[in-house]
Amino acid sequence: MAEVTLRHVRKEYSRDAPPAVEDFTLDVPDGEFLVLVGPSGCGKSTTLRMIAGLETVTSGRIAIGGRDVTDLPPKKRDIAMVFQNYALYPHMTVAENMAFALKLRGVPKEEIARRVSSTAETLGLVPYLKRLPKALSGGQRQRVAVGRAIVRNPAVFLFDEPLSNLDAKMRVEMRAELIRLHDRLKATMIYVTHDQTEAMTMGSRIVVMDAGRIRQAAPPLEVYTRPADVFVAGFIGTPPMNLFPPGTFDPSRIAGLRPEHLALHRPDAAPAGALPATVDLVEPLGPETLVHAVLRNPDFRATVRAPGDSTWRAGETASLSADLSKAVWFPAQ
Ligand code: ADP
Repeated sequence: MAEVTLRHVRKEYSRDAPPAVEDFTLDVPDGEFLVLVGPSGCGKSTTLRMIAGLETVTSGRIAIGGRDVTDLPPKKRDIAMVFQNYALYPHMTVAENMAFALKLRGVPKEEIARRVSSTAETLGLVPYLKRLPKALSGGQRQRVAVGRAIVRNPAVFLFDEPLSNLDAKMRVEMRAELIRLHDRLKATMIYVTHDQTEAMTMGSRIVVMDAGRIRQAAPPLEVYTRPADVFVAGFIGTPPMNLFPPGTFDPSRIAGLRPEHLALHRPDAAPAGALPATVDLVEPLGPETLVHAVLRNPDFRATVRAPGDSTWRAGETASLSADLSKAVWFPAQ
């Protein structure tokens, strides 16, 4: 087990394009489950691949367990990586797939058998050890890919969108499984995803990236309640935070308000200071209703989380109030 540190890491694939990763500085303490999240192309995979040693850095330093690994090849870094395309060897059984890397390293047979069997136990793969990959479901194959990483007993696990090929139900199950695995192994894990829900549910800390840079590194709840900037505010949360333009609640600042901190009222029952609005779209979601309403002044479309038994209809006139004690203020852009 080990901490991972990155210092001013930069990656330029070409001189004509902006850097894929810029000034990336972060300490990942031993045993942390860190999630890198951000839109496609923001530099998550490049960062992970530099930690793995699959990409060189243009500048900056990377250390694992206090040892500078910047110039070391992947096999000397004591890491194991699990990819989205986890290509198992099709002609090898599950047990052979898991044993392969250890065999290559000349680990004694008994030791290999012991590690494969305890890993299979951990991952619920014991009944499948003699099967070929083609006789497994997608989720089981992904579990074997994780098993291949675990048997190597690495200091750091790196995951690159490992669940994106699975269907929605299996994804939820595997998320829970990986969290349990982390609790059990207590290893340092760095996990890349573009899916903010996945990031919020899995990470003990999440790093939100945009255009090669870290926008915020904090625990999920803090990212949700105190986004560092309007990019993070708009990226995290479904639906995202409402960003009211300057002039709505403050003359010079943007007011960030989550849908649960807004309320809609019938015009005759509106509290003082409520803003006139027109209901635009109503999304009944069972226990709650999302109501999208257009303000008259300024022209702004707000999303409000309302109770499930709300009776709002599109086209109705309403008044919108906000709990400004929950607002996050951003400078005007
Ligand atoms: P993400 O994982 O967040 O989707 P990537 O790290 O894959 O982002 O990519 C970051 C940027 O670097 C993108 O602009 C991408 O096009 C570019 N990039 C990634 N890999 C290469 C490569 N091998 N050669 C050139 N450019 C690349």
